[in-house]
Amino acid sequence: MKMACLFLRERWSRKNNFTMTSIHNSGIAEHIQNIQSGKIDVVAFVKKVIQLAREYDRKYHCFTIICENEALAQAKQIQEKVKHHQAGKLAGLLITVKDNICVKDVESTASSRILKGYKPLFDATVIERLKKEDAIIIGKTVQDEFGFGTFCVNVGLGYRIPLNPLDVTRATGGSSGGAGVITAVADFPHIAIAETTGGSIESPAAFCGVVGFSPTYGRLSRYGLISYADSLDKIGFMSKSVGDIIPLLEITAGRDELDGTSLDETMKEYSGEKSEDKKKDQKLLIGVIKEGMGKGVAPTVIKAMKETIEKLKQRGMVVEEVSLPVTFKYGIPTYYILSTTEASTNLARYCGLRYGQESPVRGKTFSSYFSEIRSEHFNTESKRRIILGTFARMAGYRDAYYLKAAKVRTKIIEEYKTVFGKYDVLISPTMPITAPTFSEIKKLTPLQNYMMDILTVGPNLAGIPHASIPIGFEKNLPLGMMAMTNHYEEKKLLSFLSEVERLVERGEQ
Ligand code: GLN
Repeated sequence: MKMACLFLRERWSRKNNFTMTSIHNSGIAEHIQNIQSGKIDVVAFVKKVIQLAREYDRKYHCFTIICENEALAQAKQIQEKVKHHQAGKLAGLLITVKDNICVKDVESTASSRILKGYKPLFDATVIERLKKEDAIIIGKTVQDEFGFGTFCVNVGLGYRIPLNPLDVTRATGGSSGGAGVITAVADFPHIAIAETTGGSIESPAAFCGVVGFSPTYGRLSRYGLISYADSLDKIGFMSKSVGDIIPLLEITAGRDELDGTSLDETMKEYSGEKSEDKKKDQKLLIGVIKEGMGKGVAPTVIKAMKETIEKLKQRGMVVEEVSLPVTFKYGIPTYYILSTTEASTNLARYCGLRYGQESPVRGKTFSSYFSEIRSEHFNTESKRRIILGTFARMAGYRDAYYLKAAKVRTKIIEEYKTVFGKYDVLISPTMPITAPTFSEIKKLTPLQNYMMDILTVGPNLAGIPHASIPIGFEKNLPLGMMAMTNHYEEKKLLSFLSEVERLVERGEQ
């Protein structure tokens, strides 16, 4: 375990010339160039990677499936393209995909037994765009069933709980736990495609010590994502360094006719300078969220935040305290009412008729058949959320709960908008604690569990871009800081994150 920790630290402290305007110096860009120019034998390389992936999986249970055959088939195709100088922009980059994102012919189950055996006949739009540029999919990563969880201990029946590579007695964070693990341990050029509804990318990023990035709602198409709560779900990325995310974002973002909520704008300029950006000598105005630095947040987390804030100030940024009273008072109930309501309708389709497991129907009524399938194959947390969500949208309760929550969500969005009228970036810790042990998690009530999302639900409800970035260690456990910008301001966020990366991870003053 110590080894893994040292390994991460060493990686972070390694000198790397990456800056926002010279992203080609990141390890991934070099690797892609080596593939494109034919310096690396793609097939042999992928075979080696698959072996490594199996090893990591044995140790940390991060995959639901490693798709060796499909990856090798892709590798062979790329090898051919290289010969004709036609390899794509991401040639040979290794990609893992959260289990709730569809990959053609590869079992995609959202880590739920009810979908076991489901092999999509199509690629999610994000996957299609990555494959077009010759990125190679090596496997699906384990998650909390349908995304219902904060620690990745709510995996579906028959799935293995992933283990934190820094201490295997501790959780990885969730729901994208497998994605967090493989991003932390992969010793090959890799990006994880993950998904967040209320913090599922940022929580494992913080607990596993990697970067987790979620764009503006709608920036990436949701087509092919197995829905949890459609008005909140966003596909995003996990990586070892900020710069590695940029080319992926440029390639995957943009309008998709198959997702009506996808944004029109294409974003091809993440890495370039734009005239409307702040001039170099203009100081970034940072708001540190007061509610994230007080009661309920571990002192070690607050200490790491304060140290980072000092470094930001030394760097010439102006950091002031801001308050988001509505978001912090109502965020958790609003999120859990809206997300469970949407989840309960989304999960209604898994009833053994068109989707999900089946059993012999003879002699059963429809309701007894549906109940049998759903009782047998959903895990406890899914059942809890179906009950909660169904209650919140029932005739007679709908106005009191669901509609009220929708109105409060608007207030929360307005609160962020007001604050972004003044500040460029907001920051807070990502999680109130460091990765807990499995026995600590067992003692939490469902409500205490839900409260762990207090810092991450706000930006998800508001649909703004946000990301978690490592800011240090406490007793070998990584700590993450979350940064947020206004809608559509991914570029500003990435630029801030790379600044933090330089300051914190590489020990610059
Ligand atoms: N922990 C939150 C939940 O359980 C968020 C999970 C997610 O983003 N999928 O709903």
